[in-house]
Amino acid sequence: LTQLFRPLDLLGFVYRTIRQGLIDMAAMFRLMDADVEVEDAPGAPALQIKEPGITFENVHFGYDEDRQILHGLDFEIRAGETVALVGPSGAGKSTIARLLFRFYDPSAGRILIDGQDIAQVQQESLRASIGIVPQDSVLFNDTIGYNIAYGRANADEDDVREAARGAAILPFIEALPEGFDTQVGERGLKLSGGEKQRVAIARTLLKDPPIVILDEATSALDSRTEQEILATLNRVARGRTTLAIAHRLSTIADADRILVLEHGRLAEQGHHADLLRRDGLYAEMWMRQQAEQVEATD
Ligand code: ADP
Ligand code: MG
Repeated sequence: LTQLFRPLDLLGFVYRTIRQGLIDMAAMFRLMDADVEVEDAPGAPALQIKEPGITFENVHFGYDEDRQILHGLDFEIRAGETVALVGPSGAGKSTIARLLFRFYDPSAGRILIDGQDIAQVQQESLRASIGIVPQDSVLFNDTIGYNIAYGRANADEDDVREAARGAAILPFIEALPEGFDTQVGERGLKLSGGEKQRVAIARTLLKDPPIVILDEATSALDSRTEQEILATLNRVARGRTTLAIAHRLSTIADADRILVLEHGRLAEQGHHADLLRRDGLYAEMWMRQQAEQVEATD
């Protein structure tokens, strides 16, 4: 068995914890392409989650005052539900994820988690409750073990191993000569897109948040890898409240509910079959993607 972490002396632990905090914020902002914009309200309490339901109440938002992106969004995601968010590129899907993570505040309206306005709680407690698997996961120039452990500051070797198992990347790691100590990133082993997504999934499993956002988590993958990763993502979503932003509709056809966003407004919502019957934007997108798929296989 390879040594996962060097013995934890106190100094090393403190250093890692501090660095972790910094990397965490910096990396997340880079990932989400956001600036530091919001501050905790004075004396803000921690978010307390019993039932991790999400409510958007008449949410308006624009990055710039003269260009509104979201125009009064109302929707609810019940605790434990998997809701897909689809719509044309630029519709505002990632913006919704950024608002939920509170990188920005709505210009009007409220976002509630388990009945608490997220603008009124400690940001740290909010972000601890939400895991994100983005389109392209960023790896730190560190070991693969560190890249997974970064999901939770106090994780031990067994936790990291279990998370890797859950993300179906344990056999891959164990086959490496240096195992979890293998350097990855720009200066280390280059991982494929699918392997990077599995590391991101392992991080999220380790963090074990009640709420998960998948922002086009498989859209950068080839369709075979996508199918393999989707099976793993279904496990991540189980027992959690999940918002799955998707480009390829075939990946979310079995969601509990589908929200269709167009120009920052909810155009339609319902089950896949309902939406096909409606013969609106979703049906049009579905037909077009089916046709593209046929073309691609011809
Ligand atoms: P989607 O994820 O649905 O493709 P986004 O939420 O990323 O769409 O973007 C919605 C709109 O907001 C787009 O018109 C985009 O150009 C704009 N936008 C996104 N991020 C920023 C930003 N940081 N500053 C200004 N405009 C932005
Ligand atoms: Mg997006």
